Amino acid sequence: MCLYRFTSPMTVPLDSVLPRSRTIIFLSFSLVSILLFRAYVLTRRYWKIGQITILHELPKLGKPRQGGRLIDGTVVIAGGSIAGLLTAQICSTHFTRVLIVEPDTMLSTSATPFEEPGAPATASEGKNRKIFNPRPRVMQYTSGHNFQVLTLWALKELFPDIEVEALKVDPQAIVHADSKVYIGNKHLKPPLAHYKGDLPKHLNVGRPTYETLLRRLVKRDCDNVEFFSGFVTGYQLDGKAGPQGTGASRIESVTIRSKDGLETIEPAILLVDCTGSAQAGLKWITNSTNPCKIAKDVYNPKICYTTCIFDVEPSLMDKLQIPGGYANARTIFTRNSHPRMKHDPRSLYIIKREHNTLHVACGGYDVFDRPKCINDIRTVIAKFAGPDPVPAYVYQLLDILEDHCEESAAYLDARCAPFSFVKYHGVADQLPNNFIAIGDSLMILNPIRGQGCIKAMIGAATLNGLLRSCKPVSNLLSSGVSLPENFGKRFWESQNKRTYSFWTTTKAADYNWDTTIPVEGESLKDGAFVRWYNRTLLDVAFKNEDVAATLYDITMLITPACYAIRPGIAIRVLWMGLKNYLGLEL
Ligand SMILES: Cc1cc2nc3c(=O)[nH]c(=O)nc-3n(C[C@H](O)[C@H](O)[C@H](O)COP(=O)(O)OP(=O)(O)OC[C@H]3O[C@@H](n4cnc5c(N)ncnc54)[C@H](O)[C@@H]3O)c2cc1C
Repeated sequence: MCLYRFTSPMTVPLDSVLPRSRTIIFLSFSLVSILLFRAYVLTRRYWKIGQITILHELPKLGKPRQGGRLIDGTVVIAGGSIAGLLTAQICSTHFTRVLIVEPDTMLSTSATPFEEPGAPATASEGKNRKIFNPRPRVMQYTSGHNFQVLTLWALKELFPDIEVEALKVDPQAIVHADSKVYIGNKHLKPPLAHYKGDLPKHLNVGRPTYETLLRRLVKRDCDNVEFFSGFVTGYQLDGKAGPQGTGASRIESVTIRSKDGLETIEPAILLVDCTGSAQAGLKWITNSTNPCKIAKDVYNPKICYTTCIFDVEPSLMDKLQIPGGYANARTIFTRNSHPRMKHDPRSLYIIKREHNTLHVACGGYDVFDRPKCINDIRTVIAKFAGPDPVPAYVYQLLDILEDHCEESAAYLDARCAPFSFVKYHGVADQLPNNFIAIGDSLMILNPIRGQGCIKAMIGAATLNGLLRSCKPVSNLLSSGVSLPENFGKRFWESQNKRTYSFWTTTKAADYNWDTTIPVEGESLKDGAFVRWYNRTLLDVAFKNEDVAATLYDITMLITPACYAIRPGIAIRVLWMGLKNYLGLEL
């Protein structure tokens, strides 16, 4: 009976059920494992992106502090330039008072540079005119600047009407980010198919306009930001020793010297060094009662640039045969030196800019024969290596400039000082916990990649993220509040994770050129693998639009740089490297 039941055709034999159920269990287990692994990879990727970029910080920028209550205290910001203004906007959403201290007097107005008191009525006076620089401490103020897509994304969060305000200055201030880039003699086409013809937009204005816009908007939107004309010269500590005799402590007040030489002491809950190339924070620390030794890496690729500025009546360019027409053009031509063409270290940029001006910037590594007329620019182009790297409309444009605009030309030379990186993060334990540095005061990069201003934005966004998660603590000495003890350390670590690669990759690229003077203790061979990888990645990008799209996004800082080593791309790079090695590609 019992046997019959088990052998009945209506019942399923046990030996056939078991394997099948085992298979189902195995498949379910595999599926769950795959899903869990996938979830882990995605979570980890999300976490990693948050660590090394500010992409996740963007929605939090400019938003009121959680709970709405501001931290009671004054933030002193030394320097009212790009880094200082961005930091002020961020701090205004967290603290009751923000004081920007800046020696250049134009800071106290919202005027555009050429409306400044004492500035010449017009910027163009005679042949080879001199351009008035109303910001004497910012040598590059009038030099050509470019900004990545990320800059606009972040600005839109900080100032929701930034596009409207920028377009009031120039109807072409916000355009699709197509730099018309040639690397050596090859056009690196923008990923139009990837973006279905609609490339992301970026802010395409000169630096004076960007800085003035920022200043106007901070003055308009941030009631608790005050401006003072003077210098920050040092700080006083609260006298409390740091943990385990490290010397770390807290800044209690800041010394400010007015333009008339009067010194005042300002109590401060946070001091931010935004003094750019002055890197004044280093001096304050050295002169303080608890000085510590801070390493500073310095190298010199000897970068020289001349920006030639022309006044151009647009109708003069009606006949210019540029795709899309001159009226719709913004960046007209960009030529960067190719890392393989070591005898050809020159770059050239042609950009249409506000107020009917046209900027032609020429320069490069250890290049001293800088142009002083249109014919000199032609000579620069003639020295470019390769067949004919320059589109015909560039020559045509130079002809028109020569015939009609040479009189208005101004030639601005920028001879860059050595580039430097102050390694505050290495001694974070020994620094006052409420001292930080943002922008060029931390790191001065080769401008060839145009990452100086976005680095300031990254610092400001990092500060915002940290302040949002930070609860002030009661300060028994002052009966007020102060920032938590690990505040500075957390800031330095986080900012370093997001900016360190700017320094290493730019330096590795600069070491390609034999004329570069390396960091003390390093050799030009350092970074050879990074150089090889990036060079070969470029070879792949010329041939593969998906890779070109990733490279574009990385350059615009809207994708983490580490995406360049994702397996799909790394395999292509290695394959290309092998083909190059065997002489099958070049
Ligand atoms: C030729 C050239 C081209 C460049 N092109 C680009 C580009 O295309 N894109 C890009 O993003 N970046 C570019 N850069 C870099 C960019 O200009 C800088 O990264 C940017 O200006 C840094 O801004 P910042 O606010 O940190 O410093 P800065 O703009 O240098 O401002 C520092 C401010 O601090 C003030 N200050 C100094 N000492 C004190 C003190 N003791 N107390 C108070 N205030 C003080 C100064 O007056 C100044 O206003 C270029 C640089 C050069 C040299």
